[in-house]
Amino acid sequence: MKGFAMTGPNKVAWIEKEKPKAGPKDAIIKPTALAPCSSDIHTVYEGGVDLGGEIRILGHEAIGIVDSVGSEVTDFKPGDKVIVPAITPDWSAKASQCGFHQHAGCLLGGIQFTTFRDGSMAEYFLVNDADGNLAIQPDDMSDEAALMLTDMVTTGFSGAENANIQIGDTVVVIGIGPVGLCAVAGAKLRGAGRLFAVGSRPNCINIAKEYGTTDIINYREGDIVEQILNETNGEGADAVIIAGGNSETFAQAIQMAKAGSTISNINYYGVQNYEGAGDILPIPRFAWGAGMAHKTITGGLCPGGRLRMEKLINVVEQGRMDPSLLISHRFKGLESVEEALYLMKDKPRDLIKPMVTL
Ligand code: NAD
Ligand code: ZN
Repeated sequence: MKGFAMTGPNKVAWIEKEKPKAGPKDAIIKPTALAPCSSDIHTVYEGGVDLGGEIRILGHEAIGIVDSVGSEVTDFKPGDKVIVPAITPDWSAKASQCGFHQHAGCLLGGIQFTTFRDGSMAEYFLVNDADGNLAIQPDDMSDEAALMLTDMVTTGFSGAENANIQIGDTVVVIGIGPVGLCAVAGAKLRGAGRLFAVGSRPNCINIAKEYGTTDIINYREGDIVEQILNETNGEGADAVIIAGGNSETFAQAIQMAKAGSTISNINYYGVQNYEGAGDILPIPRFAWGAGMAHKTITGGLCPGGRLRMEKLINVVEQGRMDPSLLISHRFKGLESVEEALYLMKDKPRDLIKPMVTL
């Protein structure tokens, strides 16, 4: 079968591989729709992941049809239409048992696709622990919405969940690409009062408003810390979610956060967007209260697995959020994942999220 792979740092290519075979707990999926992710760009072009010379098929955002299942899979069968989360951990791992399935087996071990095995940009792909990791796509759910649940919605929502938002809190979301837009929607669902979105692109701003933003801050029109402090009488925010930017943005988030607040990072810092800061992310000493500000900094890989997908399906089915608004570009055919990936790399101003239909 054909797959689109990372063949080394900064290198991608089409490769031929054997079709995968399901082990006892696995499922083989034939994808029906795929999306590239900004994380694929960090991984391939920004030194995000070292595959140690291995060639691996890219892709971790997919929906598809079950092609075959292993002998121990009980809840899914060939022909089922399924949503495949980006994070597919081993649910029996100790980290899963203590509530951090994202780190099953090792740090970030829940990211199986591309990091440990081939991803979904292929004619077929394998999903481990199928009963724990697949969810049935409801008949009346659009492919656009289903595809966005796999990574964008779960990540953005987790940014809001980890930010510990209380009803009526003042919340800032920095970066309103697809992940940040979902963080806006998540913050609204969690009960944010005033909800700032930091961004500049008109189509993203429109969706941010649709998802519940009350104020837009343009980072191209001056220092965002000053703008947030001015708007909040010098107090700052109860919660800041970082969904874009670089190491400087990380420091700014801490500066605009109140004492006692939470800074919730969902951004992926590739080596090249450290912008000279090396391997250390900066915590500004003064804003950190010289170490005593009671500001909680958290950062998390998005939750995956079946239950998470079923809960997100519930959000969409009840009309609380429409993730299909995120799709800005459409492609047809497996071959076009290459063009869709380059689009993610070039980031034209009108891009939010491309979708490839197979
Ligand atoms: P994106 O590039 O489409 O969006 C990022 C946005 O941030 C863009 O709109 C950009 O203009 C904006 N931005 C850049 N610099 C900024 C600044 N200084 N201030 C404010 N905004 C700024 O990316 P995305 O697909 O929305 O993903 C966002 C991040 O989340 C990426 O780093 C991605 O790799 C990461 N991610 C993390 C997880 C996770 O599990 N934690 C999952 C998926 C994606
Ligand atoms: Zn991703």
